[in-house]
Amino acid sequence: ERLVSGESFDNEEIVEKSLRPQRLSQYIGQDKVKRELTIYIEAAKQRQEALDHVLLYGPPGLGKTTLAMVISNELDVNIRTTSGPAIERPGDLVAILNELEGGDVLFIDEIHRLPRIAEEMLYSAMEDFYVDIMIGQGPTAHPVHFPLPPFTLVGATTRAGMLSAPLRDRFGIISHMEYYTDADLKEIVLRSADIFKTEILDTGAFEIARRSRGTPRIANRLLKRVRDFAQVEGNGVVTTEIADKALDLLQVDHEGLDYVDQKILRTMIEMYQGGPVGLGTLAVNISEETETVEDMYEPYLIQKGFIQRTQRGRIATPMAYEHLGYPRPDAEGRLF
Ligand code: ATP
Repeated sequence: ERLVSGESFDNEEIVEKSLRPQRLSQYIGQDKVKRELTIYIEAAKQRQEALDHVLLYGPPGLGKTTLAMVISNELDVNIRTTSGPAIERPGDLVAILNELEGGDVLFIDEIHRLPRIAEEMLYSAMEDFYVDIMIGQGPTAHPVHFPLPPFTLVGATTRAGMLSAPLRDRFGIISHMEYYTDADLKEIVLRSADIFKTEILDTGAFEIARRSRGTPRIANRLLKRVRDFAQVEGNGVVTTEIADKALDLLQVDHEGLDYVDQKILRTMIEMYQGGPVGLGTLAVNISEETETVEDMYEPYLIQKGFIQRTQRGRIATPMAYEHLGYPRPDAEGRLF
C-alpha cells in the first residue's frame, strides 16, 4: 500500500474513528464549505425541515465521511452510512431507506458507483420522498408506492463529473473539498497528537503537515509512523529532526512526493525532455493504469506546480527540475 495514498488502508478504520472531529467547530480547515454549511444547517433547524441534499466532492482522505457525520451531529439526527458499491440491488437501497426517520442523514460514499437502477430509485426518493417498488413477477407484477420521511442525502464522490446529470441536479448543496493548507494540516496533526497523547513540537507538526499532500488522512498516517520513530530513536517527542529523519526513511520527500511521483517527474525530464508527454505513456513507464496516474498521482503534482497540463500532453515545470536537482532546461527542454 502506498504510504502517501489518500485512500484508507484496511486496518486504519479504528484509529480514524478515534480521530474524527464531532462538531463543525472542531473540523479544521475547509472554511468556505464550513461557512456555507453552518448557514444552511441553522436555517434548516430553524424551519424544522430536513437539510437540502448535500454533494461533497474532492480527492480521497479529505474528510468527506467525517463531514457527513459532523452534519448529522449538528442537525442532531441519526446517520446511516453506506456506499455505492455496497448497494448491489435496489432492495439493498430500499432496506436502508426504510430505516430512516424524519430529518435523518443518509450518507452514500462513492455515490458515482451506485448501480443504475438504484440511482434511478434515488431520483424520486430525493425529490418527493417516495420510491415505487415492483412487487411480484411476470403478469402479476405491480408497483407499490412507498412513502419516505423527509431526509438528507449526503453523497460523496472524488469527482463531481463522474455523476450523471439527473443525480447531480438533485443536490441542493454542492461543496467542493479542497486540499488543506499546511497551516490547517499542522493543526490537525497537533489535534491528533493530543488524542494519541504524543508530545510534539509545533515545528515537528509542521514538518509532517507539509509532507502530507494536503490530506488529513495522510497527515494522521505519517504522524503515527513518526511517533513510533520518536519513541524508539528519540525520547518520544516529535521534533523537526525526528520527523525529518523518519519521513526520509519512509521515502516521503520535503514536498510530500514518494518514489513513484519522483519517477514520473524523472521520466518526463530524462526521457521526454520535460514533455509534452501523454498520460498513457507516463502510465506505461511507471507500470500503472492511465486512470490511476490521472486520479492518484497527477492532481497533487499539478497542484504543487510540478506538472502542467497542456493541449499536447503533460510538461514538467522548471520547479520540477529544481526540486529533483536537475539543472534548469533550455527553451527546448534540454538539460544544459
Ligand atoms: P474517503 O473518501 O476515502 O472515505 P474521506 O474524505 O471520507 O475519505 P475521512 O475518512 O472523513 O476522509 O477522513 C480521514 C481522516 O482524516 C479521519 O481520521 C479524520 O479524522 C481526519 N480528518 C479529516 N478531515 C479532518 C478535519 N477537517 N479535521 C480533523 N481531522 C480530519
